[in-house]
Amino acid sequence: MFNTDIISKFKNIPTPFYYYDVEVLKQTLDLIKKESDKYGYIVHYATKANANNKILDSIRSYGLGADCVSGNEIKKAIECNFDPKHIVFAGVGKSDAEINIALDHSIFCFNCESLQEMEVINELALAKNKTANIALRINPNVNANTHKYITTGLEENKFGINLWELESVIESLKELKNLKLIGLHFHIGSQITDMSSFKSLCMRVNEIQSWFVSRKIIIENINVGGGWGVDYHEPDKNRFVDFAAYFKLYNDFLELRPGQKVHFELGRAVVAQCGALISKVLYIKKGVCTNFAILDAGMTELMRPALYQAYHKIENLKQYQNTRIKYQDVKYDVVGPICESSDCFGKAVNLPETSRGDFIAIRTAGAYGEVMSSSYNLRDRVKSIYSDDLK
Ligand SMILES: *Cc1c(COP(=O)(O)O)cnc(C)c1O
Repeated sequence: MFNTDIISKFKNIPTPFYYYDVEVLKQTLDLIKKESDKYGYIVHYATKANANNKILDSIRSYGLGADCVSGNEIKKAIECNFDPKHIVFAGVGKSDAEINIALDHSIFCFNCESLQEMEVINELALAKNKTANIALRINPNVNANTHKYITTGLEENKFGINLWELESVIESLKELKNLKLIGLHFHIGSQITDMSSFKSLCMRVNEIQSWFVSRKIIIENINVGGGWGVDYHEPDKNRFVDFAAYFKLYNDFLELRPGQKVHFELGRAVVAQCGALISKVLYIKKGVCTNFAILDAGMTELMRPALYQAYHKIENLKQYQNTRIKYQDVKYDVVGPICESSDCFGKAVNLPETSRGDFIAIRTAGAYGEVMSSSYNLRDRVKSIYSDDLK
């Protein structure tokens, strides 16, 4: 991601900014393509992880579909030339206006999260004299063993239709003539690093499939969502997640009926490692028991640490310089300028002795970074720079 001349490349760019390594993204996409093609799997990119045009263009060029969670994401995907036949639309709270956008573009599938939602889609589809393809997002009650804020597949979460509701949902669906049931959808959470969670999901999907088969309901599409986590601690050593093992696990454990297609919705695993937030040190301040390195980037640019105590590796870019100077390691609390105590990127972080003006990189920030940025404190919206723009 970085080499010895990175500081001279960044020297004249105003900080903070997101830096995207286009090569890393392409290599990731190459891998996804190669490993998913082995089994004929269909991969959708979860647009919410990073919706920059250039990133979306690159992802589309590899033939991935788009998994959208809002009407504007659907519009954005279409603007970036994703084929509506490869767009799926999830979310617990789809508004009427958003549903209409999706209907107008005849997207591939609505992933439905409640009976009431299905009734509304049916009504809106009827008004347009259309039939909407739907998948039932089923809450499989599988624990993803990840942070509680990004766990979505437990009964206590707001997502999906619970198993005990299935019978009545299927019964009611018979009356909704402008809906066509084409799939089952699952998504148990994000930043999942424990493969056994996915194995449990496969087992649960198998049970649920048998339930449908016993009722003579044929489902063409099984969408197992996304959630495969990345290594925030060792972004260079483990730049690519083990897509081979990931797809193989589904091939090994998911029982398919003839002709069934399997869909995935990967977000973080596609874009996390290609991005870093680049910032400069404004001040070094001595506290009572710690030193603070105060950056010109804060939670307004990267909210994950403040939002769910997420860890990101922090580096002083002078460590990449080819000099004879040996810097001593010093511990810093690396914080932003925002008026919130949670505006902290890391506590007691070991960095080479750091001074005002040093470049700091916050790694693995390509997913759920720039998309969550805000203008709180009336800050400027963060900009982005791509490796192929730098000469
Ligand atoms: C967020 C989301 C994804 C992607 O999750 P990642 O952890 O980024 O892979 C997939 N499907 C749905 C329905 C989502 O909400």
